[in-house]
Amino acid sequence: MPKTYPNLIDGELVETAATMEVLNPANEEVIGLVPSCGEAELDRAVAAARRAFKTWSKTPIEERRAVIQKMAKVISDNHEELYRLLTSEQGKPHEQAKGEIMGAAYMAGSQATLALDDVINEDSAARLSRTRRVPVGVVGGIVPWNFPVMMAMQKIAPAMLSGCTIVLKPSPFTPLATLRIAELIKDVAPAGVVNIITGEDSLGPLITGHPDIDKITFTGSTATGKKIMEGASKDLKRITLELGGNDASIVLPDADVSKVAEQLFWSSFSNAGQICVAAKRVYIHEDIYDEMSQAIADYARTVKVGDGSEQGTGVGPIQNKKQFDRVCELIEDAKDNGYKFLVGGDVDPSGSGYYVPITIIDNPPEDARIVAEEQFGPVMPLMKFSTEAEVIERANNSDYGLAGAVWTGDPEKGVRIAEQLETGTVWVNEYLHLSPFAPFGGHKQSGFGAEYGLEGLKEFTYAQVITVKKDALV
Ligand code: NAD
Repeated sequence: MPKTYPNLIDGELVETAATMEVLNPANEEVIGLVPSCGEAELDRAVAAARRAFKTWSKTPIEERRAVIQKMAKVISDNHEELYRLLTSEQGKPHEQAKGEIMGAAYMAGSQATLALDDVINEDSAARLSRTRRVPVGVVGGIVPWNFPVMMAMQKIAPAMLSGCTIVLKPSPFTPLATLRIAELIKDVAPAGVVNIITGEDSLGPLITGHPDIDKITFTGSTATGKKIMEGASKDLKRITLELGGNDASIVLPDADVSKVAEQLFWSSFSNAGQICVAAKRVYIHEDIYDEMSQAIADYARTVKVGDGSEQGTGVGPIQNKKQFDRVCELIEDAKDNGYKFLVGGDVDPSGSGYYVPITIIDNPPEDARIVAEEQFGPVMPLMKFSTEAEVIERANNSDYGLAGAVWTGDPEKGVRIAEQLETGTVWVNEYLHLSPFAPFGGHKQSGFGAEYGLEGLKEFTYAQVITVKKDALV
């Protein structure tokens, strides 16, 4: 019988009669059971968060900061157990799972150092006007399956620092490491400040529609993001949405093939391509296209696809069957249209586990599905371009606007191009670097608002302006 991982509600570990199974995507075996919560458990968690808010919102920020940092320490102290559990539910290789756990602890601890100082708007003979930030209240956090622990902590930490309390729902596919963290931090945060409840997708709309939740912070697909915005409109809940992307990388003719090829590979294939900011369309200048594409393909052939818990695995399985089917469909579409495959393309249907081979497609047309859609899997389309103006237009020709990258021997030129890309983040000569102190968010249909940095923290607060007339008659 697999182990049951309880929820955390009001400082207590809670189980429900109804449970959900969690699978290991490397072999499709059941590795854990988690509660299947409905309205009753949600109400209980929200009521606890509401009660805790009264005290937590008045607790000095230094004390709140210390609690978050203690939580971050608990996570890093237990990283070995947590990253193994994360690999078993999410699929990513151990090294990458360790990176996620340690990264989540680092980002949470660092975010906790941010301050929400008052701002003086006017200090004249006539009046003193000051803006202060007040917490919005009870937050509903909804998390996807690609970086479950990182995403959970990037919602929990700023919510707590701002003085909010939170009810967090992990993805039904990947709740285990988050629930193990819930057990570990049970006595670190005061009861009701952090509540973690699991349920099917149907629990999501109950959170969005709950009358006693004041804000939703969501990471997931654009389609679900739109539903959340609609649901939140009923009582004008505050929302932060981190959604999908179809991120373009642009490789200029002066890029050093020997240095860039391997980095380009990992910018697409880390976490089996299941990263919102992964390089999903790679445009390479025609002068170096053949050399660069060969170098990427040669490197790709050295990378092992397999169970993330096995030594030497670089690319693990796709996290779930639905996503596996979608990626397979995009590969089939590329085959049906006669596109050329530099590497991979043949999915082995026998055996267990959701494995897709590393697949690189050679110069498909711009309207190919694998170029126009977010693949979220280990399939990389490489395209040729001729001029800067052309590639900028092609990169921007998307409803998404999450991230992008420019690879060049001339960083100034890289920045000039970066400034013309319609995305929230652009990297020049690196990839996937996020800072706890810089806002991360999407333009266009990639999101609404931001996470991280002061901008991200402020999303958990309202501005309140207090104006005192100094020469008033009393
Ligand atoms: P998803 O939208 O299917 O699910 C995300 C979460 O929303 C899950 O917890 C799910 O149970 C819940 N949910 C489902 N339906 C809901 C509803 N109607 N109302 C409220 N909640 C609901 O996304 P996913 O498949 O888990 O994740 C993949 C997507 O997430 C990709 O598109 C990816 O680009 C995006 N993503 C974005 C970022 C970012 O920071 N911008 C980061 C990671 C992933």
